[in-house]
Order: sequence, then structure tokens, then C-alpha cells
Amino acid sequence: MYARTQNENGTYNTRCLYCFMTVAFAVEAPEELDRLESRHLCPEKALAQLVAADHDQATHAH
Ligand SMILES: [Zn+2]
Repeated sequence: MYARTQNENGTYNTRCLYCFMTVAFAVEAPEELDRLESRHLCPEKALAQLVAADHDQATHAH
């Protein structure tokens, strides 16, 4: 989930919609955006997965 915007000079910015961190800015090629987005380690997403894993363990404990 990323929000991409285009700058007046034709380059792109991309922002993560989970943590609202700017993943990349002034990127010239959309292919580069794909690459940079896939490399983003999202703290919010990691946290959500951690909470989900905890919930799973609690469920199995019963
Ligand atoms: Zn993120």
C-alpha cells in the first residue's frame, strides 16, 4: 500500500500508507519505485504481524 505522487519535474515520490514514511522521493522511473517499495521494511506492518502472532499463540493456549 503506497501513495505515489508525481512532481512538477516528472519525478515521483512514494509514501507508505501504513507508517506514512516517505519511502523514496525524486525517483525518475516507475520501475525504480517498485524496487524501492519492495525494499521498505515497514515498522507498522511488522508490529501488526507481531500482534497477530501473539493473538494466535493466545488462541492456541486455550
Ligand atoms: Zn511503512
